[in-house]
Amino acid sequence: MYTFKGGTHVTEHKNTSNAKIERMPAPATVAIPMAQHIGAPCRPVVKVGDHVDYGQLIGEAGAGLGCPVHASVSGTVKKIETRISAQGVPVEVIVLENDGLYTLSDTVHPFPKPLDEATPDEIVEVIRNAGIAGMGGAAFPTYAKLKSAIGKATTLIINCAECEPFITANHRMMVEHPERIIDGVKVLMRALSLDTALIGVEDNKPDAIAILRENAPTGIKICALKTKYPQGDERQLMYALVGKELPAGKLPADIGCVIFNTETVAAIWHAFYNGTPLCKRVVTVDGDCIGRPTNVKAPLGISYRDLIAYCGGLVKKPERLINGGPMMGNAQWDLDAVITKGSSSILVLSHEFCEKGHSKQPSACIRCGRCVKNCPMHLMPNMLVNLAMRRRFKDSESYNVMSCVECGTCSYNCPGGMPIVQHIRVAKASIRAAQAAAKMQETAQQKEKSKEVAKQ
Ligand code: SF4
Ligand code: SF4
Repeated sequence: MYTFKGGTHVTEHKNTSNAKIERMPAPATVAIPMAQHIGAPCRPVVKVGDHVDYGQLIGEAGAGLGCPVHASVSGTVKKIETRISAQGVPVEVIVLENDGLYTLSDTVHPFPKPLDEATPDEIVEVIRNAGIAGMGGAAFPTYAKLKSAIGKATTLIINCAECEPFITANHRMMVEHPERIIDGVKVLMRALSLDTALIGVEDNKPDAIAILRENAPTGIKICALKTKYPQGDERQLMYALVGKELPAGKLPADIGCVIFNTETVAAIWHAFYNGTPLCKRVVTVDGDCIGRPTNVKAPLGISYRDLIAYCGGLVKKPERLINGGPMMGNAQWDLDAVITKGSSSILVLSHEFCEKGHSKQPSACIRCGRCVKNCPMHLMPNMLVNLAMRRRFKDSESYNVMSCVECGTCSYNCPGGMPIVQHIRVAKASIRAAQAAAKMQETAQQKEKSKEVAKQ
């Protein structure tokens, strides 16, 4: 059985694992953010009043790291304005009025040659133009990940673990469209000049494992992973599948691996074989406040409000709205926030549910050691929380706070109800801010020095 050291078995709540993916009609308007990825935000290339077609480029990425953005409906540009994103930062948004016609942009074409004639550079370009960013949540531009792995990575891994509670979007994608995943993997194998690939699926999805095995050719191995959180974390997945540990500060490609998420691979299949850019994604909508929990193929830019209304609306007073899973997702405050490339689920939970789960009032550390035993990064979360609560952020660096992957396993298991990961996040953010300030000061000093030298 493939597994890793540490981690924990969380209550699964996979209520929608049998809920077929539903294609919902796009709402009257969508609001498409220009920043849905890691890297610089896009620059709008349309103006208010313009007509746009489905799949048309509306936000152009600059020369650096970025990911173009496309229209997820056909219609008219109604507004371009700044809003606060689901991550709490201001972002430029293009609001499109849907004409309901789904007119396809004439820029959408499948790749003109068979796969075995495509060069790695051509495949990278297809993925870049399709605006694909990691759909497991990280939203790192996929073309950049692939490009940096070409000639370096010898192991291609597809992350189909889906270890977060509630989320079943990838599970349904594997069961309903296994051929898209397998053919998408072949596109990546071609780009990386590899003959083999590993697909890791947690063993709580036996139907997905079986159907992928039926569809996979020799060379693509389907590996059943022990169901344990956070199996979907890249470091744990690599350790489980190839036995390699990723040193702190290194990328998977540095140890010969490259990892892509299930739906990212399906998006690559769409881009290569249909020419369609990333305009939709599967979202699990669940939680005890949702009238009809299900999986929805939703247009990017749809509001949580419209998505929840499609899924039967709210049947209980909500206490928490979460973008992503309950372990690593972000709490939200605005139903008008929208689905982006990295949004795999929307959860709405009631007070009673939250009380039943993890509502223990924070008390104090009783030094039970459970957090240390379960930390998949082999850290000492008890020390980290202790230092963070005293704002001794600098000292927490010597306990490798920056290696924390913020999986929340420590908080989940803490009998004292300590919000460990929340304190660690504050510590990490403060350390990053201090590092950025020091860098700015250094740059300013260097500029001053250069000016002085120029004057002499
Ligand atoms: S799990 Fe909680 S109570 Fe136990 S050592 Fe860690 S912080 Fe302390
Ligand atoms: S310290 Fe970080 S990596 Fe370790 S269990 Fe807690 S959140 Fe996860």
